[in-house]
Amino acid sequence: MSATALRVGICGFFIECNRWSPVSTAAMFAAALDLAGADLQAQLAAQPPRTLPDTAGFVAQMDQLGPWEPVALRMAAAQPGGPVEHAYFVDLVNDIEARLRAALPLDAVFISSHGAALTTQNDDPDGELFARIRAVVGPAVAIVAVLDLHTNVSRRMTDALSAFVAYRCNPHTDLFERGQEAALHLHSLLAQGPGVVELVKLPLVPPATSQLVAPGTAYAELIEIGQRRVGGAILNVSLCGGFALADCDKCGFAVVVTARAGERSLAAARALELATVVWNWRERFVSILTPLDRAVQAAVAGPGARPLILADVADNPGAGGGGNTVALLQALLRSGAQGVLLGVFTDAALAREAHALGVDANFEARFNRDSRDDRFAPAFTHGARVLALADGLFVGRRGMVKGSQQDMGLSALLDLGGVRVAVISKRQQLLDPAQLEVLGVDLQTVRTLVVKSRGHFRAAFDEFAPPERILEVDCPGLTTPNLKTLPWTRMPRPIFPIDEHATWSP
Ligand SMILES: [Zn+2]
Repeated sequence: MSATALRVGICGFFIECNRWSPVSTAAMFAAALDLAGADLQAQLAAQPPRTLPDTAGFVAQMDQLGPWEPVALRMAAAQPGGPVEHAYFVDLVNDIEARLRAALPLDAVFISSHGAALTTQNDDPDGELFARIRAVVGPAVAIVAVLDLHTNVSRRMTDALSAFVAYRCNPHTDLFERGQEAALHLHSLLAQGPGVVELVKLPLVPPATSQLVAPGTAYAELIEIGQRRVGGAILNVSLCGGFALADCDKCGFAVVVTARAGERSLAAARALELATVVWNWRERFVSILTPLDRAVQAAVAGPGARPLILADVADNPGAGGGGNTVALLQALLRSGAQGVLLGVFTDAALAREAHALGVDANFEARFNRDSRDDRFAPAFTHGARVLALADGLFVGRRGMVKGSQQDMGLSALLDLGGVRVAVISKRQQLLDPAQLEVLGVDLQTVRTLVVKSRGHFRAAFDEFAPPERILEVDCPGLTTPNLKTLPWTRMPRPIFPIDEHATWSP
């Protein structure tokens, strides 16, 4: 390493928090990702690394741009869930701060962040982390962050950053590229002085189902318009639909513009102009779901019907759902539908029992025996046969986790008569056909696939069914996009589309 190599601190805190999901604990971070110092340093060079692809993209691009020295601080990430145990978050931030002080002097800091975290006592932990980092390094050091487009943005967050880079794809397939982009901005800021980040918030909370970035969607067109404003003094335009289910005062569509030093008024004008376009298009973010009975009718359609996907969007583990609600499953069982496969249903006790019984065993399957959610995931039993067993390890084949090693824990494929259910132990959404294929499923034999996922499955199951054969089903659940049904307590009101008459002017 040359004596003039840039020293860049690397850290992260990554979780999306649903106000109503069970508390996210230190153990959940430990099981997913929580690395510091030498352990994190080793992952920065590992292939494939355990860190998220944004960090890998940042490292790869920095390597190309010249001599530099990554200084690993600490990085923690967990599956979407409820608010984080506050004591864990306090320890985490104190640790990052202490490691940062010990690492000084640094030329810059990179943060891998989701941006929609809550703790049990703090509704803006991301802002707290960013501000604490800024306070340690001072105003002259560049701090760049990559964030999920579902981030709920506060001014505390943007005031602390020198560049704000949100994903532009949903499903999120561009983390690596956004990490690369962050590295390019970092080099540009080091040459020209720390950037400025301007924020405009709107009283608009698009349901997650309306935030798909695909040809013809409002969100895709807005992101395209935003990208046309990038160039010259404007380094980045991020359009963040946010995560309504956090139910906090940070909720609301955020337009975030990063510009070169000294260009704050230009950044503010661009942000306001784009926010006006978003607001004028707000009706396009209203989400229309398929009623449960209509979805079941579609599944019982006669032979020859084209493959169908029923998305159980109200039970998306990728937004804090338990992956174990039963409304859609029970309705399909009652309907006599044939050729149905549901994946993936989280129930560790049921998976263990199936493993103990063995393949071909017939038994009374007791679903949700350990569930504490009587409202959406009550216990029920149904006669079943064990079709296949697996250890739950799979390598992603298509879409968001393609090429990476993943783990569902002990898994079993059960036949309930017309409906097969892929039961897993480690809560996660269905993202990849490999999750079903490790259980011996041939998707050619499936007529209706029920996915416990909101939208990320689309990047992988496009080979199974085209978009017009995907129905987003209106079921009860913790992650329902039917926002008017939720018990909001902290959401700023009025806000569209919960309050249809919400107003905003530039
Ligand atoms: Zn997201």
